[in-house]
Amino acid sequence: QPSSLSGLPAGVGEALEAEGVAELYPPQAAAVEAGVVDGESLVAAVPTASGKTLIAELAMLSAVERGGKALYIVPLRALASEKKTEFERWEDHGVTVGVSTGNYESDGEWLATRDIIVATSEKVDSLIRNGAPWIDDLTCVVSDEVHLVDDPNRGPTLEVTLAKLRKVNPGLQTVALSATVGNADVIAEWLDAGLVESDWRPIDLRMGVHFGNAIDFADGSKREVPVERGEDQTARLVADALDTEEDGQGGSSLVFVNSRRNAESSARKLAEVTGSRLTDNERDRLRELAEEIRGVSDTDTSEDLADAVERGSAFHHAGLASEHRSLVEDAFRDRLIKCISATPTLAAGVNTPARRVIVRDWRRYDGEFGGMKPLDVLEVHQMCGRAGRPGLDPYGEAVLLANDADTKEELFERYLWADPEPVRSKLAAEPALRTHVLATIASGFASTRDGLLSFLDNTLYATQTDDEGRLAAVTDTVLDYLAVNDFVDRDGGTEGLTATGIGHTVSRLYLDPMSAAEMLDGLRSVGAAGSAEVAGAGGEGEGEFVMTADGDGDADEPGFGTYTRAGAGGEGGEDGEVSGTEGGEVTESPEVTPLGLYHLVSRTPDMYELYLKSGDRETYTELCYERESEFLGDVPSEYEDVRFEDWLASLKTARLLEDWANEVDEDRITERYGVGPGDIRGKVDTAEWLLRAAETLARDVEGVDGDVVVAVREARKRIEYGVREELLDLAGVRNVGRKRARRLFEAGIETRADLREADKAVVLGALRGRERTAERILEHAGREDPSMDDVRPDKSASAAAT
Ligand code: ADP
Repeated sequence: QPSSLSGLPAGVGEALEAEGVAELYPPQAAAVEAGVVDGESLVAAVPTASGKTLIAELAMLSAVERGGKALYIVPLRALASEKKTEFERWEDHGVTVGVSTGNYESDGEWLATRDIIVATSEKVDSLIRNGAPWIDDLTCVVSDEVHLVDDPNRGPTLEVTLAKLRKVNPGLQTVALSATVGNADVIAEWLDAGLVESDWRPIDLRMGVHFGNAIDFADGSKREVPVERGEDQTARLVADALDTEEDGQGGSSLVFVNSRRNAESSARKLAEVTGSRLTDNERDRLRELAEEIRGVSDTDTSEDLADAVERGSAFHHAGLASEHRSLVEDAFRDRLIKCISATPTLAAGVNTPARRVIVRDWRRYDGEFGGMKPLDVLEVHQMCGRAGRPGLDPYGEAVLLANDADTKEELFERYLWADPEPVRSKLAAEPALRTHVLATIASGFASTRDGLLSFLDNTLYATQTDDEGRLAAVTDTVLDYLAVNDFVDRDGGTEGLTATGIGHTVSRLYLDPMSAAEMLDGLRSVGAAGSAEVAGAGGEGEGEFVMTADGDGDADEPGFGTYTRAGAGGEGGEDGEVSGTEGGEVTESPEVTPLGLYHLVSRTPDMYELYLKSGDRETYTELCYERESEFLGDVPSEYEDVRFEDWLASLKTARLLEDWANEVDEDRITERYGVGPGDIRGKVDTAEWLLRAAETLARDVEGVDGDVVVAVREARKRIEYGVREELLDLAGVRNVGRKRARRLFEAGIETRADLREADKAVVLGALRGRERTAERILEHAGREDPSMDDVRPDKSASAAAT
């Protein structure tokens, strides 16, 4: 019984019982047995939905009760605030909770005062690199979904982060939560932890494959679900669950698909099934919910989601706003939404059980693989694990779909009868090590080659490998790379390693060193810089900054060039020249355009590529020649097939960014590049981050033209707001955004200052009569009397606006 547990803050046990935790689940009891409330390290490898979170909570709460501090590492940013909210119920018992989402500066000190901190592994890694002082105070760390160390992109970060935390705090209690995997014992060995491994579930799970007219379950049972000719298999299964009442209620379904776009279209289709099975009362409540969803944001996604939800169906993916996600999850748990179509993100962390899970897509497009690739057993099992709501359903049902007998056979072999794969470290890959070796040196975890290798000895990789030479060999390659690029200094004889100034900057900026090298190369290629003082022309209150070239070369170096801000895309740009010359001679004008900068950041390994589709090669080759003068650095020759192809793919991304900064409609962009709205957001966010990093680099290193810094900043701001230059001021006002900024501008309101003076009727007209919005915008612009009470939209105002 929870209330009989000792070592927890007063009242916690009783509170758990009040929540319905009458007794510990067997794996939880085993964890307590293994000392999880006494500070012992533990790996808990148990199925989804078997109460892993409570194991973590017991560990953290008891650590705090002993006067310590706990860190909970989540695998996805989207989960951080959810976990924080979940843990915040312990604030009644004197335990404070914080989440690290913003930048380091803003929450560094505040976090130091929290008992429990929630963050992603990337965030923790970055906090360590930036020297957050509270890292030393940790006594307990929880790693949620630790099996993700297997992920080639994100796994190494988690692995190295855990190794660092354990190195800083010897004796740190490490609790790792894992799905059932093939080798949990190896993870336990790596973390010097006890192991609780179990396949116990609070509710029975039946897994099967639907083909033809029935679901065949792995336990040999069968359920008839005949599909009419022309009827959609998924729709039939969702309908079947809804039409089968238990407890006087039909069953909800969770449908897993392989892309955001598919989630959206599936939700639309399944709304027909759910929409025809609603009571009047449900219809009313869903209509209210849909309004709430529309109120969250003014986007197509919001509108599409609301349309589906109105009929009892929803989609769920990482591209949704977090308010949207929680509205959907809550309504699904309340049985108001009957069906969610989701990408696998949902399977990972969010607690949204359903009577029936349908794994519609078991293959997903994989760029590196170059085609559709089957999902891992582990992943499919995690999705299936969401089936069955304890206390509500007699059992959970997980169904995979086959449309021929061979596929049915394959699905049984591949997923139903198979054990999950073992987890394998991906640390020895060069890109991963490049980043982590630099950070390890820069943050002082190693200062010699031997020290570095012995640090790496604390990783899962070292625990797993038989080939000890391999890690040393890759490490040496990486060290060579870092030294050649001047990120690390090697002190020949003593084998000493130190990070250079720029190496420190790169590490703190959280850049892949290769991205930094690529950007520096491009930035330095602009003009030839001498030593000069340049006035900061961006008007952002930065005042003056001084660039100094190495050595003494001021007189005889070629002068500081001027650059032309060419209007991107050739329209609406300004041809004004900004010159930063004081003493330097003006030679030729290297042009730095937004497209050039967007291309520069798009070709770094930190930006996910867009792939070239058929016809793209021609389109972008042409564009490449048309705008050749804008690219920073050398364009590869067309005969260097692979490099050229990569270059073009980056150009496609750069062009997308340029479109965005030129106010091209989001819908038009999705169409032109074959991407979803979430992808645009992703590219834009990444570009913004990389341009910010580029600006810092350009300022910190020697040899970059001062005007380039200004150009980078402007290109970044245009990306941030998705607007042309003339709208930057307006778009910076909260609640304005790119579309409204344009409409205001066209109505003659061109700046933030104009907003403070403008005729309210004109403002309201430009904002299409939305009074609340207009009031909020005027308020944010700093207007004294933002109220619209004295204005009503009238014809003259809307006429003025259009
Ligand atoms: P996991 O993290 O393993 O996927 P969760 O921790 O989300 O699973 O637990 C799933 C659900 O089970 C949660 O709603 C949780 O409140 C509930 N739960 C956990 N432990 C118990 C228990 N001992 N008794 C009753 N319910 C529990």
